[in-house]
Amino acid sequence: MGIEGRYRAVRDEVAEEARACGRRPEEVQLIAVSKTVGLEGVQEAIDGGCTVFGENRPDQIMEKFAAFPQVEWHFIGNIQSRRIKDIVPCATMIHSLNHEEHADKISRVAEGLGKVQDVLVEVNVSGEESKSGVAPEAAPEFVAHCCALDGLRVRGLMTMAPQGDKAVADATFRGLAQLAAEIRATLAPPDALVFDQLSMGMSEDWPWAIAEGATMVRIGRAIFSDNFNE
Ligand SMILES: *Cc1c(COP(=O)(O)O)cnc(C)c1O
Repeated sequence: MGIEGRYRAVRDEVAEEARACGRRPEEVQLIAVSKTVGLEGVQEAIDGGCTVFGENRPDQIMEKFAAFPQVEWHFIGNIQSRRIKDIVPCATMIHSLNHEEHADKISRVAEGLGKVQDVLVEVNVSGEESKSGVAPEAAPEFVAHCCALDGLRVRGLMTMAPQGDKAVADATFRGLAQLAAEIRATLAPPDALVFDQLSMGMSEDWPWAIAEGATMVRIGRAIFSDNFNE
């Protein structure tokens, strides 16, 4: 099976898992993380019906957005201040916001473009040293800071779970969902109304993330790698 077929299979599995968890399939958006493939690979996924892609490098999102502006491009990677001006024009959503200075700059750049940038705040729920993201204790204040910026619309939270242990991943996803509910309760409309997204789950752990309330799963290898399922 190639990328086109794998995209369709994963899309169907995601919808099936949502139903199995008592959720509507439309509540879970599949983001195809195309960082390991070039334009041909993206075209194959589009042929399979994919309309939302994730990228973690500025050069990649710029090139692919220029080639395929008809689909959505989400930025999921490490943000460098000097590349914000390159990312914002391409990104429908930025998932990996975790520094206040970056929030301020993204807002300024977005305002300059006449755009309001949708963002998610990345939280390091598991506390692993190697993971980026704001600490859970700091997240409410961080979100409040971002909500006060005119060029940003804070849509929710994002996290990455440690790989390899279902119990640890489950606890991470549940922790993000609880934190998001707590933060939402502190927000006033209109901020509270749009703070409704949970970006969590990757190729190895997405079914568990859906069970804990993910509204966006970011799946790369299960779609774009020839040997993920071997
Ligand atoms: C690469 C990446 C993914 C996709 O990971 P897979 O294991 O290939 O599904 C998801 N989220 C982020 C932030 C990534 O960098």
